[in-house]
Amino acid sequence: MKRFAVLGCPIGHSRSPALMNGLFRRLGLDATYRALRVERGRLAEAVRTLGALRFVGANVTIPHKEEVLRLVDWLSPQARGIGAVNTLFWRSGRLEGHNTDADGFLSALRGAGFRPRGRGALIYGAGGAARAAAYALLKGGAPQLHFSARRSSQARAAARHFGLLFPEADVGTVAWDEKSVAPVLKRKRLIVNATPLGMGVLKAACPPLPWSALTARHRVVDLVYQPERTRLLTMARAKGARGMNGLSMLRHQAAGSVGLWLGRRAQARALRFWKENPTCGF
Ligand code: NAP
Repeated sequence: MKRFAVLGCPIGHSRSPALMNGLFRRLGLDATYRALRVERGRLAEAVRTLGALRFVGANVTIPHKEEVLRLVDWLSPQARGIGAVNTLFWRSGRLEGHNTDADGFLSALRGAGFRPRGRGALIYGAGGAARAAAYALLKGGAPQLHFSARRSSQARAAARHFGLLFPEADVGTVAWDEKSVAPVLKRKRLIVNATPLGMGVLKAACPPLPWSALTARHRVVDLVYQPERTRLLTMARAKGARGMNGLSMLRHQAAGSVGLWLGRRAQARALRFWKENPTCGF
């Protein structure tokens, strides 16, 4: 039996096990995918254990996507560029680190009719998902991008990293408060929430978005998908802004992981299956 897992904390919200196990059944594959709660400081031990148990692959989620970089034997160029790993693959005796979040994010955006070229973006958060979104947007031609994170040092580190990687773009930071964000919104079309605010026990929370500066020409992407309509999306829609939750990205990044582990045909079948069965995983 092929074994897979997703490692994170919190992990109870994750739809990945239902999504993946539904797919494995459809593919007639003798495989299982489980959610494993791994607290900060326990990641290295968890990864070692999965390797010893001959797991084929794993996804890595909040808060481990950056820490896991130092645990792999080989990093894909994209994971290195992003500075975060969301997919582990034990292949030919070595542990590979990949990132399928950036392509998943871009596919979701494109599916919703948004093209980043020529459009500025504001990203809340500066962790793994924020870095993947930034990489996708800058690669896709976004000319300006700002990070806003509760720890300004984390936002500055991400801005420095992407400023060096994409020297033609204007990459900066903005303080984690509504007053500072308001003027920045005038020059940005896309707002991305890459924090857990709005998810699970943080359901009532929202990043510091100044509602008065939000207009119908903004697009708001909340990477949270549980609940499907977060407070951020509800408020954005009330201002006429178009919004999208993290579900489409979830499916695309999961299909990217399937492609690495099981091949391109399985990836295409995964996307088709999840499109035809939108309640799979829910
Ligand atoms: P991460 O690497 O741990 O980064 C999380 C970011 O959010 C960090 O900047 C973190 O700052 C910040 N943050 C955490 N708790 C916060 C709080 N209470 N208030 C303000 N900021 C807070 O996690 P991640 O993997 O990037 O995931 C971030 C979110 O995106 C999660 O909700 C995850 O479920 C979602 N996500 C969705 C998809 C999808 O496919 N839809 C894919 C990836 C991620 P600190 O470092 O200071 O905590």
